[in-house]
Amino acid sequence: MQHQTYISALKNPLFRTISKAASNLNTESYVIGGYVRDYLLKRGTAKDIDIVAVGSGIDLAQEVSKLLPGKPKVSIFKTYGTAMLKSGGIELEFVGARKESYSEESRNPAVENGTLEDDQNRRDFTINALALSLSNATFGALLDPFNGVKDLQNKIIRTPLDPDITFSDDPLRMLRAIRFATQLDFIIEQKSLDAITRNSKRIKIISKERIVDEINKILLSEVPSKGFALLHKTGLLPHILPELIALQGIDEKEGQTHKDNFWHTLEVVDNISKTTDDLWLRWAALLHDIGKAPTKKFDKKLGWTFHAHEFIGAKMVYKLFKRLKLPLNEKMKFVQKMVLMSSRPIVLASDVTDSAVRRLIFDAGENVEDLMTLCEADITTKNPKKFKKYHSNFQLVRTKLVEVEERDQVRNFQPPVTGEEIMKTFNLKPSREIGIIKDAIKEAILEGEIPNEYEAAKEFMLKKGESLGLKITDAS
Ligand code: ATP
Repeated sequence: MQHQTYISALKNPLFRTISKAASNLNTESYVIGGYVRDYLLKRGTAKDIDIVAVGSGIDLAQEVSKLLPGKPKVSIFKTYGTAMLKSGGIELEFVGARKESYSEESRNPAVENGTLEDDQNRRDFTINALALSLSNATFGALLDPFNGVKDLQNKIIRTPLDPDITFSDDPLRMLRAIRFATQLDFIIEQKSLDAITRNSKRIKIISKERIVDEINKILLSEVPSKGFALLHKTGLLPHILPELIALQGIDEKEGQTHKDNFWHTLEVVDNISKTTDDLWLRWAALLHDIGKAPTKKFDKKLGWTFHAHEFIGAKMVYKLFKRLKLPLNEKMKFVQKMVLMSSRPIVLASDVTDSAVRRLIFDAGENVEDLMTLCEADITTKNPKKFKKYHSNFQLVRTKLVEVEERDQVRNFQPPVTGEEIMKTFNLKPSREIGIIKDAIKEAILEGEIPNEYEAAKEFMLKKGESLGLKITDAS
C-alpha cells in the first residue's frame, strides 16, 4: 500500500534520534495522536509528543536518552508501562504498542503487547489514531487505517470501532469527544453522538479530576457554549453540573415569563470568552446565576424574583467546587466573590454616583476590572437599543472607576488613622469604640464626606470620639 509521507512534520532532530534508538533496539517506532493531528490541522506543533514503540516503550525511552546530549532523565511509570523524558522544551511520552481488552466487570483493561494496528485500534477517535513512521526505510509515512485524514478534512469526530463499545469501555472518551468537537469546531458523527447519549450514565465511574480536566478545556475553548450544549444534548450535564440544568426552562405565571437562565448563561460564557482567557473568570461566568434556581419565586406585584440569588449562588460555588474536587483555595474564593458581586455594577449602570463607584472599588478590591468584564458579558439583551444603552453606561462606570480611584485610592484601602492612634488619643484600652470610630471614618470616606487623607480623617476621628462621649487625652 502506498503511504503519503510527511517528512516536513518531523523536522525536529529529536525524531531522527528516536528513529536511531529504535533501530539500535531492532524495533519500530511511530509518532501518534495529537502531534500528528495538530500538524495536519496546521494548529502549530504540540509540545507533547506521543511515541509508540513496537516493543517496550521504557527501553526505547532509555535508549533515546543515551543518544541525547546531557542524557536527560527518564521518568518511568511502571504500572502503565510508559516513560517520559524532556528535551529542548519538548515532552516525549513513550508507550509500547498494546492490545487492550475490557471486560464488563472491570474498568481497567487487560493489556497485552501488540502491533501498531492493535495500538491504533485502542485509540479514541480516528483523528487521534494517525501515526507517522519513524523507521529509517519509511520515515514520515502516514499510517491512517480509519480514514482519519478524511475526518480531519470533513471536521468529524468518529470512533475507530463500534462507538458503544468505545464509550462503554472508557466513558471519559465521551467527554473527550465533546471537548475535541468544541476545541476544533468539529461535528460528532451521529452514530457516535447517539452512543454517547446511550452511555451517558457511565460517566459516573470516571474520577472527578479527569472530568474537570475536560470541562476546563471546554471552558477554555473559543466558543465554550458548543461543548455545554453537547453535554446537555447527550444527557451528560446532569451528572456533572446539575446546578446548570436546574436553570433551564421558562415559567409563566399570570402572563409573565422570565428568561431561560441556562441558555442565557451559555451566552454569557461565550461573551466573556471573547475578552478573557482566564479560566476562573470563565468559571465565574458559568456559575454566576446558579443561585437563581433555588431562589426563584413569583410575586403578584413584582413578578418573577430571584431574591439573594448572588448570596445563595456564592454558597453553592463552594459545594460545587468541593464535589468536583476543584481547588478550594483563592481560585474558589475569587469565583465566589464574582458570583456574590455579579449584580453590583449592573445596578450602578443606571445611576453612576461617585460614592457608589467608591464602594464598588472598595468591595471588589483588586478584582474590580474582572467584575466589570463579567457584568459586560452578562448583557445578552436582543434589543439593540437596550444593548447599546447598557454598554455605554458601563463605559461610563469604567471611566468613573479610573477617576475615582485616581482621586481617592480606595482599592487597597488602608485606614488613614490606625486603631492605635485612636486608643492613644482617647486613652482607650482595646474596646468596641475603636471599631465604631474606625468604621465611621471608612464610611465617611466612601460616602465622600471627607477625602481619603490623614488630616481630614484625624479631625473626623476627634469629632466622632467626642460625640461618643470620649475625652481627648492626647491630640498630638
Ligand atoms: P491534547 O494534548 O490537545 O489533549 P492529545 O490528542 O495529545 O490532545 P492526550 O490526552 O495527550 O491528547 O492523548 C494522546 C493520545 O492518546 C490521543 O491522541 C489518543 O490517541 C490517545 N488517548 C488519550 N486518551 C485516550 C482515551 N481515553 N482512550 C483512547 N485513546 C486515548
